[in-house]
Amino acid sequence: MKSYKITLIPGDGIGPEITESTIRCIKSLGVNITWDIKEAGINAIKKYNTPLPEETIKSIEENKVCLKGPITTPVGTGYRSINVALRQTFGLYACVRPFKVYSGAKTFYKDINLVIIRENMEDLYAGIEFEKGNEKTFSLINTIKQLTQNNISLDSGISIKPISSSGSERIAGFAFEYAKKNKRKKVSIVHKANIMKFTDGLFLQSARNIAGQYPDIEFEDIIVDNMAMQLVQKPNKYDILLCPNLYGDILSDLCAGLIGGLGLSPGANIGDGIAIFEPTHGSAPKYEGKNKVNPSAMILAGVLMLKYLGEDGPADILENAVGQVIKEGKNVTYDFKGENSSGVVGTIQMTNSIIEKIKKY
Ligand code: NAD
Repeated sequence: MKSYKITLIPGDGIGPEITESTIRCIKSLGVNITWDIKEAGINAIKKYNTPLPEETIKSIEENKVCLKGPITTPVGTGYRSINVALRQTFGLYACVRPFKVYSGAKTFYKDINLVIIRENMEDLYAGIEFEKGNEKTFSLINTIKQLTQNNISLDSGISIKPISSSGSERIAGFAFEYAKKNKRKKVSIVHKANIMKFTDGLFLQSARNIAGQYPDIEFEDIIVDNMAMQLVQKPNKYDILLCPNLYGDILSDLCAGLIGGLGLSPGANIGDGIAIFEPTHGSAPKYEGKNKVNPSAMILAGVLMLKYLGEDGPADILENAVGQVIKEGKNVTYDFKGENSSGVVGTIQMTNSIIEKIKKY
């Protein structure tokens, strides 16, 4: 039997609970994994005085695969997002988020099965920001005035949105290869090129160049605001959405809402030979330690990880077990049915139920 050493970052908030669920499920599948447990975020600051310790970085570098729980990012002040830092550090340029309706989930639609492929490094997430009132910000405002004759109010903060043709072609190549490998038929390129001609326009042009190399895969482009509406009205028309970073982030939550909530939506961040798997949702601090939240997104992130490792058999068993528990609706968390409904249980009990299904295979 193959064995793996994988970095495990439980994260904070609800992270440790849903990580525990995932580890228990994977263990019951019999896949031989040694978990190299590391810290990041608030927990790491207490111990290492930095939110992203060298030890954690080294572990991911060595193991090449990481399973990660959600990590809290302080809003406005404090350290920058560790999630973004990890993607930048390891060049995880592709974010892959599948959205599919599991029978029994609370949804308006029954037939959604789409994947968002989001560029993960550029755009407004590049982390190039200028704070209001800072000398550098005044200098930038002056330079912009000289170069463009545009007046930016002196009490502005500024975030920079870089999008390159190389970065856009790379993510488009990834999306079309993904479509080919997974027998998907259509790629919809999401943009706002009518307004941001030099950034979104470049993204669109670069993606079109790549699309030309894949004549068997249908290709269209769609403006992001229209995309949001189309997704709400006709989500089953879409297959793969190829998005720049920010739109991919926002549409991911929209799609999560369409399939029954964030608790059902896993994600993979993939670079060249290295990958981090995580749920799409955050650390939901208000539910920390309450044995309340849905472990499915993190468990399904485990499914994506197993598939990445080539463990397709165990991955399918795990996904089917999650699907069966959701379909039966006898042991599911509050987000499937609403508080105090019959069949609503905690994180641990839902996990137990998934493991019982796994054992029947
Ligand atoms: P969140 O995803 O943590 O929670 C939003 C709401 O979604 C919750 O209040 C809850 O109602 C619901 N929810 C989330 N996960 C759920 C689950 N597993 N089961 C059932 N319901 C669930 O979003 P937020 O409140 O905006 O962010 C909280 C923190 O998480 C912030 O610090 C944010 O920066 C961080 N965050 C981290 C990641 C990551 O680690 N990749 C991603 C998003 C947000």
